[in-house]
Amino acid sequence: MPSTRASSQTEKPLLSRRQRLFGSWWKRQSPARQDRFATIGPLISVLLFLAAMVAAFWYLRNEEFEREQESVKRDTEIAQQQIRLRMIENQEQLVRMAREVATQAIDVDEFVGQATGFVRERPEVTSLSWIKADRSTRARYDSPNHPLDPDRRLEPDRPVVEAPRRARTRPAAPPPPATPDAPASLGSEPDRAFAAARELRQPVYSRPYLNPLGQPVFQVHVPLLDRSAFAGALVSEVALESLLRHYVPSEVARRHAISLIDGSGQVLASTVTRDAADVARRPAFVEQVPVAPVGNGLVLRGQGWRTSIGLIGNALFWMVVALSCLTVWMLLGTWRHMRRRSQIQGALSSETNFRRAMENSMLTGMRAMDLEGRITYVNPAFCAMTGFAEHELIGKLPPFPHWPPDRLEESMRLFQQELLGRSPAGGIEVKVLRKDGSVFDARMYVSPLIDAKGHQTGWMTSMTNITEAKRVRDQLSASHERFTTVLEGLEAAVSVLSVQGAELLFANRSYRLWFGADAQGHARLAGEEASAVALRDGDDAVDSLGGLPTQELTEASADAREVYVPQQQKWFDVRSRYLQWTDGRIAQMLIATDITSRVRAEEQSKHQAERAQETSRLITMGEMASSVAHELNQPLTAISNYCNGIISRVRAGSIAEPDLVAALEKTARQAQRAGQIIHRIREFVRRSEPRRQPAQAQDIVDDAVELAGIELRRRNVQIHTYVAQRLPQIVVDPILIEQVLLNLLKNAAEAIDNAKLPPSRRHIELRVVPRHMPDEGGVIEFSVSDTGPGLKDEVIGRLYEAFFSTKSDGLGIGLSLCRSIIESHRGRIRAENLYNGSTVVGCRFSFTVPVEISSAGLVGNRSIDVAPNASSGELRPAATQTQNA
Ligand code: ADP
Repeated sequence: MPSTRASSQTEKPLLSRRQRLFGSWWKRQSPARQDRFATIGPLISVLLFLAAMVAAFWYLRNEEFEREQESVKRDTEIAQQQIRLRMIENQEQLVRMAREVATQAIDVDEFVGQATGFVRERPEVTSLSWIKADRSTRARYDSPNHPLDPDRRLEPDRPVVEAPRRARTRPAAPPPPATPDAPASLGSEPDRAFAAARELRQPVYSRPYLNPLGQPVFQVHVPLLDRSAFAGALVSEVALESLLRHYVPSEVARRHAISLIDGSGQVLASTVTRDAADVARRPAFVEQVPVAPVGNGLVLRGQGWRTSIGLIGNALFWMVVALSCLTVWMLLGTWRHMRRRSQIQGALSSETNFRRAMENSMLTGMRAMDLEGRITYVNPAFCAMTGFAEHELIGKLPPFPHWPPDRLEESMRLFQQELLGRSPAGGIEVKVLRKDGSVFDARMYVSPLIDAKGHQTGWMTSMTNITEAKRVRDQLSASHERFTTVLEGLEAAVSVLSVQGAELLFANRSYRLWFGADAQGHARLAGEEASAVALRDGDDAVDSLGGLPTQELTEASADAREVYVPQQQKWFDVRSRYLQWTDGRIAQMLIATDITSRVRAEEQSKHQAERAQETSRLITMGEMASSVAHELNQPLTAISNYCNGIISRVRAGSIAEPDLVAALEKTARQAQRAGQIIHRIREFVRRSEPRRQPAQAQDIVDDAVELAGIELRRRNVQIHTYVAQRLPQIVVDPILIEQVLLNLLKNAAEAIDNAKLPPSRRHIELRVVPRHMPDEGGVIEFSVSDTGPGLKDEVIGRLYEAFFSTKSDGLGIGLSLCRSIIESHRGRIRAENLYNGSTVVGCRFSFTVPVEISSAGLVGNRSIDVAPNASSGELRPAATQTQNA
């Protein structure tokens, strides 16, 4: 007992180790290989099974063949034994009878008696004859079991012993002649046997032959020896058929076909009748044995046929083959099916993975409920949103943990709505409680959950956190509100007009107030484009801007213009730009600011400036009044002197006519000169509209120097003028530039005069040169340098202040006006001291006039109407145009 247990114990681990080994090997294989093994394994086992079956059948078949062969051999040998025994016995009997006949111990009658007994006991013997040496028949007995020879029956004298019921004795008859119709062999076989018996003096068996009845027979010739002399023979004829019938055991005959054949293989007798089918069917097992000791070439043959053993006929075998084929076919089918299944499975799993990844990365919370409202599923986003873990939500019935406690009733109502499928398609806004107690806004969408069969199994709710969106929306609406408030509160009119349809897209309150709700106001403000817009409006709406690239149009900066609208009697500063409207259309936006008061103020201040300039010129003249008076005094004195001289000489009658004429001419010249002075002064102070025109610097300088000359002469100051050659034209108001120059010259002369300088240092230099300034570009620079005391530091800082003067009688408006005049010409005025070493030796005032203005011409000047200075004398072309229109 213990030994068995021990062995079973050792067997078990062995088995499990093998299993483990196999398991680990199996696991090491790739899934594809596993699949292949799983498919090929059964296939191979089925094929092996089939092979084993074939081998088994083969073996069994061979076994049966051998057995059958053996059986045929045994049966044949049994039959041989039987026949041989019988024939030996017969031969012995015949030999005994022959001895008796030869010794003449019996006569014919006794022979017949014995023959009768012999034949009766032996059904195979057809006849027994006593043949004499000369071959004549002494006696003969024919078996009644065998049909008689017809020939013999017709010959009554023949020594034939008939049936047992009648025995005949007859004298010896001559030997039967050879039957003419019998085959040669028939006749010759008994003869040959007889001759052999005579020759050999011992029993001889003839070769088988056909007797006249057509039965295969053979004869046994036993010689009759009378003291070693041959005295004939006892001849027994044996029918082969009967031999077989009686001496082959019936069980043997039943099992196998036993036949007798001659030496050439021709069948002489058989236990089975031979029909055509048997001839066609070749026997499978054949055993041949000679019917020894006969030695007449007779051979006993046993034959056996394959009965149930043929492969073709073996239903069982074919059934196994068919079943195996079916199994293989089904295995292949299963394999294909499995492959399809695994493909589907692969596709399904990748789809599942994709869905899972999607679900996990989704920011939308998903919640599934069954029809009773129990939570069956939540996705990670839902858990992340609410802060609850999956197990805290799944399986819960309302009230759910993520319902805010103060809104349970409302939540329940929404929930009921959800269960009834009445949730709005656009979703519902709800408050959701987080686990940490905070609440957020969410939007929930509900849709029915339908299974594969089309039945509803519950409800799927998706939830998005809209706190941020809501905040943005609130912010947006607040900013929109602010924006509208600002726009509506603007004093400026804001309007947006679509370019294509001339449709007013937006208008703020100010616009509506001034122009109403139609696009006319916009058109009016847009100026010349208004007509185009109006035209397009009535026309077939061909977009004149259609070909323009939108971006370039909208990126162009706003252009500004001042427009006067007569209907409103208002001036507007209109800024327009193209923009892409919210729907993508190109639209023109106008911002029109009411600048009427500013324009009025500007006009006023311009007017005032003009007045100031004029006044300043008058003041200058007033200041120069004594100089002018002095200047005028000379011609007037001269005229007076000339007149007095003429009068006295006329009175004295001492003047000739030519002298008189000369004197009068001189007088007239003096009067002319006085008139010229007055004319120039009048020209200078004449009130005139400021007007810019192309002018030459030389002319301006000449005029200014001529006027200043009066003052300079009075103050005894020299002037040196240098004007560069070929200066470009400048576009200026000559009177104003002349006024500036006069002012500077007068100041210089005053400074020199007040410093009481010696005559050698009393001079002024006026230079006009072209210059290039880094910040102004090309300019013409006018400079006035004097040899006066220069400018003190505190004076420099306040130089251009109105009403700043260091002179007791000075008004202090000269330089401030000069500056405004120069700046209105886009020029610059500067003042600096002149040094000799560190000592101030005078000062230099200079101003520039840009050349670009002159070369750019009038148009350039007028097109830019953003004036930097209110006192400028610039024109407003847009305004004029609008007014004209
Ligand atoms: P006003 O000549 O009436 O005083 P201005 O505006 O012409 O008024 O001049 C202002 C001041 O600038 C003068 O009072 C004087 O002190 C100073 N000034 C002007 N030109 C010169 C000059 N060439 N040299 C010295 N000081 C000058």
